[in-house]
Amino acid sequence: MKIAVLPGDGIGPEIIAATVLVLQALGPRFNLETAPVGGAAYDFSGHPLPPATLALAQSANAILFGAVGDWKYDTLPRELRPEQAILGLRKHLGLFANFRPAICYPELTAASSLKPEIIGGLDILIVRELNGDIYFGSPRGIRHSEHPLFPGVREGFDTMHYSEPEVERIGRVAFEAARKRSKKVCSVDKANVLETSQLWREVMTRLGQDYADVELSHMYVDNAAMQLVKAPKAFDVVVTGNLFGDILSDEAAMLTGSIGMLPSASLDKNNKGLYEPSHGSAPDIAGKNIANPLATILSAAMMLRYSLGMTAEAERIERAVQKVLTQGYRTVDIFTPGTTQLGTHEMGVAVVQALS
Ligand code: NAD
Repeated sequence: MKIAVLPGDGIGPEIIAATVLVLQALGPRFNLETAPVGGAAYDFSGHPLPPATLALAQSANAILFGAVGDWKYDTLPRELRPEQAILGLRKHLGLFANFRPAICYPELTAASSLKPEIIGGLDILIVRELNGDIYFGSPRGIRHSEHPLFPGVREGFDTMHYSEPEVERIGRVAFEAARKRSKKVCSVDKANVLETSQLWREVMTRLGQDYADVELSHMYVDNAAMQLVKAPKAFDVVVTGNLFGDILSDEAAMLTGSIGMLPSASLDKNNKGLYEPSHGSAPDIAGKNIANPLATILSAAMMLRYSLGMTAEAERIERAVQKVLTQGYRTVDIFTPGTTQLGTHEMGVAVVQALS
């Protein structure tokens, strides 16, 4: 099993190192090949996604990704910014379906900013479309405005669009996922304002007829943002576009106690995938050995399950994460009085010990 390991920037190398410890503890089953990506790759080769890194990602069975980005690259042209690496990988590898489970472990209810009765036992799945929407739409740019009130001033503009097949393929992924869970899909859009969303809703409604065993509901994104903090357990699978999913999945992350607990998988049509924590490179805490590696370790478990067909090993890792939490081990972001604080590396070691 060849796994492309792309640590990236900020806390990326630290959380990936802790995750590699866990994978290696499963035995000599993986050929782990590391390559630079993001700002680290830009420093090394002048591009955030060098051809050698892309070739490794294309040839591997799966990709384990840390995070990219740092404020020091903020002045680079957009196409050379570290974040372009992740967008480029998604595009080149056809990774259109992003799975972001948000599970609130009973041990972490106190770490959430919401009341325990609101989030205790939470287990929802956000399915986000990754290849389309305003992030990839054209035309885009900065131009001189023809607005009657502000003629000639500079204005930024982007284009939002979704085609029917794009909506349908992410819809099918969501309905199939719901069939293996509580059989409920909530499609989130802004159909009261946006034409793109009107088409999205039409396609989802039509698709729902093929999945009569799954209950389909629709919700405007502003209401969904509100309901996620008011009654998150009312959701099961939430399916939405790239922009809305980006925002809602970070909101869902905080329900679970910390963004450091939230794994993600980005899959192509054959279930080859890129696995990464839902958070970014956290430059504010980089190099201090305090970042939470559990989201990355749980992402590796998703990798074993979805791309490598190793369900038993995936469950072993998930049980080990559950065990370290039960043992009271915490990184600083989920620390509460009475628990034991560990560093990034030490948390990786604790998960390895819990595997056995
Ligand atoms: P962020 O997710 O990096 O950090 C937000 C907050 O969460 C920070 O306070 C950070 O310290 C904390 N945090 C994040 N991960 C943590 C962890 N594992 N353990 C403990 N605390 C954690 O978001 P940001 O600050 O908005 O962005 C920082 C950089 O990351 C930017 O350059 C951004 O573009 C980039 N980014 C990259 C990705 C990616 O690589 N896929 C995703 C989002 C943001």
